[in-house]
Amino acid sequence: MAVVTSIEIKPIELKPIEIKTIAVIGAGTMGRGIAHAAALGGYRTILEDLLPGALRKAETEIRSNLDKAVELGKVTAPDADSAFRRLEYAGSVEEAAREADLVIEAVPEEMESKIEIFTLLDKICRPTTMLASNTSSLSVTEIASVTYRAKKIVGMHFFNPVHKMKLLEVVRALETDDDTLATAVEVGRRMGKEVVVIKESPGFITSRINAMIGNEAFHMLQEGIASAADIDKALKLGLNHPMGPFELVDLVGLDTRLSILEYLHKSLGEKFRPAPLLVQYVKAGRLGRKSGRGVYEYPEAAVAGKAGSSPGLAPGSE
Ligand code: NAD
Repeated sequence: MAVVTSIEIKPIELKPIEIKTIAVIGAGTMGRGIAHAAALGGYRTILEDLLPGALRKAETEIRSNLDKAVELGKVTAPDADSAFRRLEYAGSVEEAAREADLVIEAVPEEMESKIEIFTLLDKICRPTTMLASNTSSLSVTEIASVTYRAKKIVGMHFFNPVHKMKLLEVVRALETDDDTLATAVEVGRRMGKEVVVIKESPGFITSRINAMIGNEAFHMLQEGIASAADIDKALKLGLNHPMGPFELVDLVGLDTRLSILEYLHKSLGEKFRPAPLLVQYVKAGRLGRKSGRGVYEYPEAAVAGKAGSSPGLAPGSE
């Protein structure tokens, strides 16, 4: 099959830089998964978070996920133990990033937080150190602009849960150089990921398409075209999606989806204007599994204060 593309990206022919130590800043949902995959990929991995509790939680969760991988026969016990021993925990960004060849930032999706971290990293890291952001939608070029090493900055967009999801989107910002791009691709492969390389654009490939499908589903629900359950069923059985758009948005969080859509609307135009029903649900506090109610209801999560496992239909959504 001939592929026609206007984008000149040929990472295979480029020369990766040797990476031995990776620092991961932010040990939340994504940071701990990235640290897990990096350690399993053979890298000395240093994980850092503002909150000591987040580091303790990360250590427990990584051990438990490694043990599950051993039980399932996906990783050998000695490999899991070696990966666990490659992990270190740091109490400050300085301590984590000092000796790193690559720093991957995974703090919350706010431009001010990213800028603060990258300004600091640029001051404390060696001039040769590469810096990556795991942002789902923000401009890596804008993040890079606050540093004196824009050529050595790249987007590495992992997926949740990182230890299970195969894809890594490597994002080339305006000034990312070829060696940095090739290195990010190589690190992703060593972490067991399939890599796609893209030129920076709001929402990259996945968030942009996913936001569009999810928004259209809300328009259809609002217009009374079908029930939420039937829209989900149609996409799963007719289009082979593993989850329906409403099951997925309940997992991601309606507030998170709304902020992505608002950003895409601002940067790419009218076709991404958030559906009024989505905006209304967020105003009502229907944020998805995490709040016990999104498009569907999760009574057990509302009681236990955690995500439930099986969706029940919300009144009015059928
Ligand atoms: P999260 O809220 O679970 O974790 C963020 C962590 O960063 C928290 O533990 C917090 O204490 C820590 N933190 C905050 N400020 C910090 C600082 N200044 N220094 C060190 N640590 C700090 O968030 P997340 O879901 O892991 O998202 C992180 C990034 O990954 C975001 O940019 C997000 O858009 C992106 N992302 C998220 C997902 C997802 O499904 N959750 C998927 C792909 C990408």
